[in-house]
Amino acid sequence: MQSHTKDFRQGAGAALSDPKIQANLEGLYNGFHQARIDASDQTPDWEALQDKGRAIKAHTLDNLAYYLEMVERNVIASGGHIYFARDAEAASNYVVNLAKERGIELVIKGKSMVSEEMALNHRLEEEGIEPVETDLGEYIVQLAEETPFHIIAPAIHKSRGEVSELFVEKLNVPLYDNIEDLTREARDQLRQKFVDAGMGITGANFIVAETGTVTLVTNEGNGRMCTSMPKIHVAITGMEKVVPSIEDLGLFLRLLIRSATGQRISSYVTTVTGPRGEDEVDGPEEFHLVIVDNGRSKMLADPNLREALYCLRCGACLNACPVYRKVGGHAYGWVYPGPIGAIVSPMLTNLSEAKDLPFASTLCGACKEACPVKINIPRMLLYLRKELTQGETYPEHKSVSMAESTAVKGWRASVSSSFMMRLSNLGGRLLQLPFVRGGRIDRLPSPLSGWTKHRKFPAIASKPFRTRWKNIGKK
Ligand code: SF4
Repeated sequence: MQSHTKDFRQGAGAALSDPKIQANLEGLYNGFHQARIDASDQTPDWEALQDKGRAIKAHTLDNLAYYLEMVERNVIASGGHIYFARDAEAASNYVVNLAKERGIELVIKGKSMVSEEMALNHRLEEEGIEPVETDLGEYIVQLAEETPFHIIAPAIHKSRGEVSELFVEKLNVPLYDNIEDLTREARDQLRQKFVDAGMGITGANFIVAETGTVTLVTNEGNGRMCTSMPKIHVAITGMEKVVPSIEDLGLFLRLLIRSATGQRISSYVTTVTGPRGEDEVDGPEEFHLVIVDNGRSKMLADPNLREALYCLRCGACLNACPVYRKVGGHAYGWVYPGPIGAIVSPMLTNLSEAKDLPFASTLCGACKEACPVKINIPRMLLYLRKELTQGETYPEHKSVSMAESTAVKGWRASVSSSFMMRLSNLGGRLLQLPFVRGGRIDRLPSPLSGWTKHRKFPAIASKPFRTRWKNIGKK
């Protein structure tokens, strides 16, 4: 997928000024976010489960080569094929070549963020192969020729009315005014595609090393149909999705599902171990697992970023984030939005091009609190900010401008002592005079204009707090 991370400011501005997107984003907090809190409150020993999950993730990533080799052995032993792709292009080539060799013309797809990284639909279309998304949200986004807006709810930015109009335009059907009719229409449209497709492509929420089992968590049943109806099933996933054992899988299913939707268990949990056996009645004739690196090794090798690979892609940090809930998913400009996306997207694309993303956070810590495996997102955002300004580990990405650097040095000097603080406070009060109206600054000149573009900025108080405090003490 082409990266637009450098356009974060424009994308955020567009979302902020779009009342429809703002209205559609409102539901996230009261919906998924509250459901997660309720589900975790009702789960005995939730915090102990989180700690255990985090410890298993740390152990697996510290021994990733060992577990990936175990996956390889067990996938092959169960009659499947496995391919380790260095990057998105290699992964796409593998899938496209396989489809061409088998004469596939129609592919059905379950939800897969990694296939978004690979821009796989685009590649398949270039080769004359029709890809059809079967997750309802992904289907809507595909019809609209857009990219997913949220990790687990790709079309959350679209209202029912917008989806109705989209169906009229793209599917030539009547204008429906309720969700049941829209869902039924999508199901009718997709049913024959499931029957006709020669290949099913899915992601994988987890890969169990001890058995080579791919696990999918869905609520629509489309994942199970993608894995069992076509003759060929290809699962594509990032290399960090390995868990050591089936017992660990049980723990991670509890953490993921409760954090994603607040459910105790999703409607469908599908496990696939190799192709259909002789004594089995359903399943694919061929099974392929594509494990993708695409920059993940770089995060694995950096002790400051490794824990970003613990991510279960539950989306809880997005729903908790005050920035995501205002600017939405498209502003981030690549596959992974929100707080975890502000770390993963720059590292998998280009840190200096995505330099606004690590700064798109108030560092309030809501993301860390929401995360089922306690990923310390604020710490990693600070680390990336430091890298962008000082470039100790990634000097090639140091991208702070001379003006910014000078401004930060000036600010540091201004708060370095009590005298300097008083002096800079006095200077600030004098400099702001031409811009203050009723205790607020309406508009600042460039290069400070961004501070007042979307709000009025509070003016520096005429009496510093320190002076007022002294006077209060005297009364
Ligand atoms: S960082 Fe944590 S909260 Fe955010 S998507 Fe990943 S697992 Fe979920």
